[in-house]
Amino acid sequence: MTSLADLPIRDDLRGLTPYGAPQKPVRIALNVNENTHPVPPEVIAHVTAAIEREMRSINRYPDREFTLLREHLAGYLGGGVAPEQIWAANGSNEVIQHILQAFGGPGRRVLGFPPTYSMHAIIAAGTGTQWVEGARDDDYRLSPETAAAAVERTDPDLVFLCAPNNPTGTPLDLEAIAAVYEASRGIVLVDEAYAEFMPEGEPSALSLLEGRPRLVVSRTMSKAFAFAGGRLGYLVADPAVIDALRLVRLPYHLSALTQAAAVAALEHAPAMLATVGAIREQRDRLDSELARLGYAPHESWANFVLFGGVTDPHATFERLLEHDILIRDLGIPHHLRVTAGTEAETTEFLDVLGRIER
Ligand SMILES: *Cc1c(COP(=O)(O)O)cnc(C)c1O
Repeated sequence: MTSLADLPIRDDLRGLTPYGAPQKPVRIALNVNENTHPVPPEVIAHVTAAIEREMRSINRYPDREFTLLREHLAGYLGGGVAPEQIWAANGSNEVIQHILQAFGGPGRRVLGFPPTYSMHAIIAAGTGTQWVEGARDDDYRLSPETAAAAVERTDPDLVFLCAPNNPTGTPLDLEAIAAVYEASRGIVLVDEAYAEFMPEGEPSALSLLEGRPRLVVSRTMSKAFAFAGGRLGYLVADPAVIDALRLVRLPYHLSALTQAAAVAALEHAPAMLATVGAIREQRDRLDSELARLGYAPHESWANFVLFGGVTDPHATFERLLEHDILIRDLGIPHHLRVTAGTEAETTEFLDVLGRIER
């Protein structure tokens, strides 16, 4: 049998294993921060009709510029964002890959602040970009001073921030983003995958874009928007940044079906986002109940909670799995992460956890 090691694979990929959270057929999956509520039937009908219409021209290549989708994404964001500032791809992971293909690559480096979204370092590796790390402050926070000092120390070509941060849920002040921008010469990407879960009225990094042509804000329809299987991520930046991404994207990277489904879903944005308030409530409930059970939850502005005080994370993970509940063990000592699900899912998780030795 041929193994990977027998192949003329890139030296920097030798010995690596593929990334991915375990996909197990469980009743209660609270491991990858999806919106666990069902999609409303009227949205399903609308999206299905849009896909059926699209099938009549599926023999043709799709709109390479996904014009209608960009208009809808700009409309969804509001706040004066123009379609020319929008880029989209098959998940924000691909959007981030495009950024690294255009602005990173061999001989360049990207600075991140672990623990953070694992895919940032993995996409960096895949594009031959060196991943360098800065430290965080207490409780995973990142102050403007700490962040800017790391930029000055490492002089990166790109900086990746995550706000709120995954897997910790930690908020990030706009002042820290502005400080990183001032200190750096390269692209500053703020991954706002969980922006919709932030407290009402909290400003997003979108409000910093004006006058900052190296700033990029990425978003996704995979989390609050309940569209993870649809694979649609996007970013907002200066139109010149978008032009750079056109140099590295594959032609027609967004299928006609993806574009049609995403547009139709965006036309029902209020219905798709109707559960955000309920999810925030379950997140806050996780926070207080986990503390009551003696665990140490970290403040979260996202739809998940990272909690410490777990004697043996692997054992607790397995015990929950025996009850058909899947959460996430990220390898942070004495910590586990759980997604805020429906009220019933959250209740069952807390009930079972309460019966497990801490
Ligand atoms: C889940 C997640 C994403 C989403 O990736 P998609 O490719 O859009 O599904 C991006 N960034 C962070 C920090 C995430 O947690």
